[in-house]
Amino acid sequence: MAERVIIIGSGPAGWAAAIYTSRASLEPLVIEGAVTEDNRLKGTLPLGQLALTTEVENYPGFPAGDMRAFLDDALEPARVPYRHANEDPHRAVTGPELMELMRRQALNFGTRVKTDDVVHVDLSQHPFRLKTLSGEELQSLSLIVATGARANYLGLESEEQFKNRGVSACAVCDGALPRFRNRPLVVVGGGDSAMEESNYLTKFATRVYVVHRRDAFRASKIMAERTLANPKIEVKWNSVVDEVLGNDEHGVTGVRLRSTVDAAKTEELEASGYFAAIGHTPNADFLRGQLETTEKGYIRWTKPFRTHTSVEGVFAGGDVADDYYRQAVTAAGTGCMAALDCERWLAAKGFD
Ligand code: NAP
Repeated sequence: MAERVIIIGSGPAGWAAAIYTSRASLEPLVIEGAVTEDNRLKGTLPLGQLALTTEVENYPGFPAGDMRAFLDDALEPARVPYRHANEDPHRAVTGPELMELMRRQALNFGTRVKTDDVVHVDLSQHPFRLKTLSGEELQSLSLIVATGARANYLGLESEEQFKNRGVSACAVCDGALPRFRNRPLVVVGGGDSAMEESNYLTKFATRVYVVHRRDAFRASKIMAERTLANPKIEVKWNSVVDEVLGNDEHGVTGVRLRSTVDAAKTEELEASGYFAAIGHTPNADFLRGQLETTEKGYIRWTKPFRTHTSVEGVFAGGDVADDYYRQAVTAAGTGCMAALDCERWLAAKGFD
């Protein structure tokens, strides 16, 4: 028996789509991802990129406050993140908490969840066919793809070691945290993201080093000029980060740079944070080219202001289709749009 809607992905777009489709009595099935070492290393575990962040201060509706009683009441005991955290209770919601709350909200309306990865889809037949990592075969009348994107890192072991302890790929998410205030910080990259993030971080840091592997930025002229004119920013041209330096007590304490023109030349910078701004990769490999994408591999929305894709009955929400805004709130918004587009498509086809 075919499902009416399968939602692939469990970030804000996936859960928003699940909340809307379950409230529309479509009994959605969410395939939230598998808990595997491979997914851990890639940053693609269930609950998405937000589950890898700390405090989320820009999601509307969650001002800082003591959330403990609410979390204990709303969530199953085993799924309350940071239950024993010995920290200031007056704080913003964390990424993992926000995602658990969204998941719970979807379950409360009857959403079913499988903790599995979709490894293969066949969009050439209808109902669509899906195969999961555990070997299960599923069919669905419609699909909402909300698999998100993952930040690119350089791939250093030391980056992995200090993730959430000074290593981040999102200045807007993490920049205002205490550990990044009144200290020097490092941003790697030469695109618009590196420009935006470095300028943003100067609000908090004493100094921001932008480390770029060439002698010219890829970024748009206006953003590059703003960066170069910022007195708190120093650009380290023709340089790559060779190693993130740190220790168990303090997390990141600096970086070691290596020159790209003279490999024997190294330099150490003191910094309490290291931000990778070298692009993102959409999690769309499992689609194997069956949906039209942009030149960067993001799923293409084929109707203006709608979430339809190049295959009828397949909708996309969140970062897998958006390399521009990439915020939790915009992902939730396009997830909601995908659910409404999907519901209307099913009704128009007489599948409701
Ligand atoms: P991007 O334009 O692809 O730039 C990535 C940067 O990282 C490049 O400078 C690249 O160096 C560098 N890089 C990549 N791999 C690296 C590696 N292994 N080691 C060292 N450096 C590496 O990505 P983005 O900056 O995230 O921008 C993505 C898109 O979003 C762009 O279209 C951008 O215009 C847009 N965006 C717009 C805004 C805005 O308008 N406000 C803000 C952010 C992003 P090379 O230059 O040498 O290749």
